[in-house]
Amino acid sequence: MLRLENVSSGYGNILALKGISLDINAGEIITLIGANGAGKSTTLMTISGVVKTRTGKIFFKDREIQKAEPDDIVKSGLCQVPEGRHIFPMLTVQENLDMGAFLRNDKAEIKKDLDYVYSLFPILAQRRNQDGGTLSGGEQQMLALSRALMARPEVLLLDEPSMGLAPLIIKQIFEIIKQINKDNNTTIFLVEQNANQALQIADRAYVIENGKITLSGQASDLLTNEEVQKAYLGI
Ligand code: ATP
Repeated sequence: MLRLENVSSGYGNILALKGISLDINAGEIITLIGANGAGKSTTLMTISGVVKTRTGKIFFKDREIQKAEPDDIVKSGLCQVPEGRHIFPMLTVQENLDMGAFLRNDKAEIKKDLDYVYSLFPILAQRRNQDGGTLSGGEQQMLALSRALMARPEVLLLDEPSMGLAPLIIKQIFEIIKQINKDNNTTIFLVEQNANQALQIADRAYVIENGKITLSGQASDLLTNEEVQKAYLGI
């Protein structure tokens, strides 16, 4: 579904990704874990076309996308929920969701997806006329996730959805991510510092250190891997 081959990218003189390769099959939940500054967000931004590649290729459904524009990439079925949520604070919950469906014109299907996201997050239905900026942190994360779902993506890129949230809300968000994957067979690429929770819901995982992939395997194996436990799970 999605494949990176020897991808390097960065900012000015900084090379943040130094030749990473990874592959994601349709319907999988894959997580990328790593410390602060390891290159997790840059990986997602590079896939989304916001940060341009310097070397390597990115294939989405067998099409090379490393030179495509971000809106073209979204249209083709790949949608990112950025770190820090970035919802529209002055727009209502409903208007934020409408923006998620901006590139679509299949009205009946949009209505179905709207009912679906409101069923996933009933709190958003209750607050549909409230401005996005007045929602709690957890509600804003739910809205950011829901807005991405309104684009009906085949692949969802999630950048640290647990950041800054209370443990109970984190648990709820991770459960919903799993449910989205199950309900729609949506492929999920999850970037997380919360390695423990991410590895619990993922099928496979990659570890990134200093812009390079240093380890990969079944998520269940990484959970019991001593190096991973020491470096990322605080065990
Ligand atoms: P975190 O978990 O802290 O968000 P991360 O693994 O997502 O970290 P990135 O945000 O991808 O890491 O950063 C990788 C490297 O690129 C870091 O050294 C960072 O300082 C640098 N970097 C990221 N964004 C920019 C930018 N806009 N301009 C310059 N350097 C950047």
